[in-house]
Amino acid sequence: MRTHTSLTTYRTAVNLKDIEAEGESFVFHRQTGELNERLADLIGSHDYSVDLSVRPMGNVFEISGQISTQMDLVCARCGRETSAPIKDDFHEIIIVLAERPRAGHSGHTGSSDEGPFCNYVTSYEFDLAEFVHEHIAATEPYRPLCSRADCDEVFEKAQVTDTSPTAESNPFAILKSLRAQIKSGHR
Ligand SMILES: [Zn+2]
Repeated sequence: MRTHTSLTTYRTAVNLKDIEAEGESFVFHRQTGELNERLADLIGSHDYSVDLSVRPMGNVFEISGQISTQMDLVCARCGRETSAPIKDDFHEIIIVLAERPRAGHSGHTGSSDEGPFCNYVTSYEFDLAEFVHEHIAATEPYRPLCSRADCDEVFEKAQVTDTSPTAESNPFAILKSLRAQIKSGHR
């Protein structure tokens, strides 16, 4: 894999018609700041590294690369905050539709078992920031675990508290409020 050490700033939206025939590379990270604002709702102030390339292939476009960052999440077992690594390698196709596909002829969105995922778009203006945002959101672990040494212990203690008849605490309510705190930027 290539390593990028320069602090060049790349554009985050492209017109696919302007992409050079041999393809173009885009590199975004915290230091150059291209996606800092756009990704803040998902990754807060964590570092991120996005390396993607777009290449015309006939009348479609190939988009491939890697995304690497971290997300603040709530441990699904002990309920404490944790941060999970996010890694995504992607290799997809962008197809620009001249017009909306006819009914019955377009049910082909995202066929991962038949080849690369196809992004059907209706404009040559392509927002790379939105693409990266969607990928990170889709990579969020469904059931993150903190892997702290006392994760099980804290979980067991919480179970004991919850079974006490006087306890009003609902683990899901706690998770919800923790999530709300994280989402509101409470760090
Ligand atoms: Zn845990």
